[in-house]
Amino acid sequence: MSIFTKIIKGEIPSYKIAENEDFFVFLDINPNAEGHTLVVPKQEVDKLFDLDDELYAKLFNYSKTIAAAIEKAVPCNRVGLSVIGLEVPHVHVHLVPLNQMADATFEKKVKLTEEEFKALAVKIASYL
Ligand code: AMP
Repeated sequence: MSIFTKIIKGEIPSYKIAENEDFFVFLDINPNAEGHTLVVPKQEVDKLFDLDDELYAKLFNYSKTIAAAIEKAVPCNRVGLSVIGLEVPHVHVHLVPLNQMADATFEKKVKLTEEEFKALAVKIASYL
């Protein structure tokens, strides 16, 4: 079972923003920038391009909805989207508020307090 499935099942805590029938949305714990969010299919599939066509399309449509809320909640130039990385073998879309290209590199990281994470999740959710 992936760490994201454990989060979806509530076995591991997360700064949850939203969920629907197919997806679970929460803040990345090691964010590139404030508001860095993950959109994860509840179905545990390792690789993006192995998703069936319907779930694949739904993933990007739902990510669009979440990105609009992030853009309202977090001051940024725009919200970037990437599916990248090798750490967790469970599909996840990274939505990252971008103010500079360094925010998109996955090298620059920001530290947030628990209170800041909680407030961000609540604020983003309030725009959904
Ligand atoms: P990657 O598979 O390389 O995209 O990396 C997985 C991403 O998930 C990284 O950005 C991690 O910071 C993030 N991540 C890993 N574990 C957790 C967790 N328990 N809660 C929130 N985000 C996580």
